[in-house]
Amino acid sequence: MAVRDKQPDPCLLAVIGGGAAGLTAAITAAAWLAEQSPSVLDQLRESCGLGQALPIIILEKNDRAGRRLLVTGNGRCNLSHQPLDHRHYFSQSAPFIQGPLQRFDLEATLDWFSRIGLACRTEPDGRVFPNSLQAASVLDILRQEAERLGIEIITDCDVEQLRESQPLYLGDRPLDAHHKWQIKTRDRRTFIASRVVVATGGLSYPSLGGSESGHQMMRQLGYPVTRMFPSIVQIKTETDWVRGLAGSKFEGRAALLRDGSPLRCEDGEVLFTRYGVSGPPVLQLARPVSACADDPASLQRLRLELDFLPDWTDDACLSWMIMRRHHHPSLELADFMTGLLPKRIGQALLKLSLNRSLGLPCSVLTESDYAAIVHQIHHTQLAVEGTLGWDQAQVTAGGLDVSSFRPNTLASRRHEGLYAAGELLDVDGDCGGYNLQWAWSSGHLAGLSAVRDLVAANQSSGRSHTGRRRRSGK
Ligand SMILES: Cc1cc2nc3c(=O)[nH]c(=O)nc-3n(C[C@H](O)[C@H](O)[C@H](O)COP(=O)(O)OP(=O)(O)OC[C@H]3O[C@@H](n4cnc5c(N)ncnc54)[C@H](O)[C@@H]3O)c2cc1C
Repeated sequence: MAVRDKQPDPCLLAVIGGGAAGLTAAITAAAWLAEQSPSVLDQLRESCGLGQALPIIILEKNDRAGRRLLVTGNGRCNLSHQPLDHRHYFSQSAPFIQGPLQRFDLEATLDWFSRIGLACRTEPDGRVFPNSLQAASVLDILRQEAERLGIEIITDCDVEQLRESQPLYLGDRPLDAHHKWQIKTRDRRTFIASRVVVATGGLSYPSLGGSESGHQMMRQLGYPVTRMFPSIVQIKTETDWVRGLAGSKFEGRAALLRDGSPLRCEDGEVLFTRYGVSGPPVLQLARPVSACADDPASLQRLRLELDFLPDWTDDACLSWMIMRRHHHPSLELADFMTGLLPKRIGQALLKLSLNRSLGLPCSVLTESDYAAIVHQIHHTQLAVEGTLGWDQAQVTAGGLDVSSFRPNTLASRRHEGLYAAGELLDVDGDCGGYNLQWAWSSGHLAGLSAVRDLVAANQSSGRSHTGRRRRSGK
């Protein structure tokens, strides 16, 4: 049989998706190959029917790779967290997460970044950033490294379908049993690869490439996908009095309650908005809200509780108010809390806790008024109405079911030569650098496993060919 016309050029490894995980996978694979001995590489070239090159390609649907990276950490890219506590990750299989995170942990990640030219710094709260505090420098370093290693990044390449291909033939000789993946793009281009890493990310921020196409592609191959919902996202609450505070912020505590019991509690800067609340602690609490956002009955059981002065005891608040009233009894209630809290927030708390005009002097305050104000300071509750959804979410909770993949390699349990990495998988983390660390760790493991497995498969098939030749006397 002759070589068929217009046969797509085969490549060694195709990475679908040029985000944090995909770039890491391709760079790791290319760097590992570059370290192999000439005889290993020759064998690989011959068995894969390749010329001098050992092509590794990234197929990216956007007009440039890594666009999401540029917006991370408010443009500063919070790329990891020290220490990297695994309890900050979520998945249907918690033990699965350990595989990639232990094989390419924080130390290995920082060492890798340093080797490829990115210096990092750790803030006192444990968040790790590039030393430049610019997300663009992380992407620049990754792109420079990809270029140095000869990785081809093919942009505007929206992959639609992935399937195992028939072996290619050179004359009557099969080019290689490993050339088994056929990748088709929406604009009808085809790529053939021995190994494929799928790293198409999640659904959030469609403007940055977020979509379900990777999950769809994998579903067609029979891979289950767990329920997906937006995470690390702003929370919508009742807005009656909140709307009037839009733009005001305070440093305090936010807790998510279900049926009155706290599910989780976070400290930090809380921001009031037209739709509800935002700020790091709120984003951190959004996951359980988002998980039940489609179910009004479950949503009704949730409340967001704000503590405006978490470091102040009830007695401390009370003493402050008594002193204030004693010092300036004619002071209008509208100004009573000024000096303790942002003015508009103080006024809102008095309105919520007292049935009095704020034009009255503070001398009218009674003991029960004080108790009501103290309670309001520590326990202001808001009915929860949902989240801002996919458009604003930083990550996707849920995804490709991890039980289909091996935690120690990220290789598929169902198909040879197929690997998955990054947010596409059913793994998400808290705010604070955990999601990018997952992208680095899983991308590294998938890329490394893909080329290691390929070389191992070639070596064992080479040995069995030699054995067969010896046995048949050729
Ligand atoms: C506003 C914002 C701020 C964030 N800040 C932080 C932070 O500070 N720290 C942190 O840890 N995490 C942060 N995250 C989360 C983090 O960016 C992601 O978890 C991480 O980028 C996931 O990496 P990934 O490679 O799996 O996916 P992505 O980075 O999304 O990359 C996937 C790539 O695949 C491409 N693609 C998708 N489908 C196809 C297809 N069919 N064919 C070809 N290409 C395709 C996409 O265009 C994209 O380039 C933030 C996210 C957002 C949106």
